Amino acid sequence: MFSEKTALLLDMNSTFMFGEDRFSDAEDFSLYYSKIGGTLAHGEINRIIRSVYKYLDARYPDENFRHNFPSVETAIHELTGAQLGKDEIKKIVETFAFHELGYIPKDYAAALHTLRQRFTLAAVIDIWSPKTAWLETFDRAGIAHLFSAMSFSSDHGMVKPSPKSFELVLNQLGISKAAAIVIGDSPRRDLGGANNAGIDCILVGGAEHPHALQSFSNLLELCEKI
Ligand SMILES: [Mg+2]
Repeated sequence: MFSEKTALLLDMNSTFMFGEDRFSDAEDFSLYYSKIGGTLAHGEINRIIRSVYKYLDARYPDENFRHNFPSVETAIHELTGAQLGKDEIKKIVETFAFHELGYIPKDYAAALHTLRQRFTLAAVIDIWSPKTAWLETFDRAGIAHLFSAMSFSSDHGMVKPSPKSFELVLNQLGISKAAAIVIGDSPRRDLGGANNAGIDCILVGGAEHPHALQSFSNLLELCEKI
């Protein structure tokens, strides 16, 4: 079934990173923010981060923002006007990133190493914050070198299910869409984006869909069975 496939284009959140997007009402954003030297009052920073999250969350599924998704910094500017200094905005962005970032379980990192023995790996990643904290996390997990190409939506503003970030990665790899499989957990964003780009897709994470080549309960099962 996969004999002609040479590359896996992996989604990140809920595919090999978990515990991401900690923005619930229970979160106290001021804890991290004050640790990095932020000076806004507790209630104020919590209000700003919540409103930034709400601003971006409303636009994420909106087709009008698929190729120009706003950055966290843009959202902060839109919501707070010109009242905050550059250094303050940097700390708010860093706090947002801290809560957006998840963790990579050891067995998932090991699965990526195993898959790399057989496939070229690439990552097609939607995040809202700048990618710095994610690159550091990939490094610490020992997986950064496994990816021959990576696309972070916050670099270019194109979000799934746009086909463009998938096409970008295919171009970076220099391979045809027939040689690739998209691996992701979201039928709308990953399968939808893959299909929009004309690439086959395998769903991981439990979702099933008639357009998916196959479905696995998670990446570990895929790694065992593929
Ligand atoms: Mg995902």
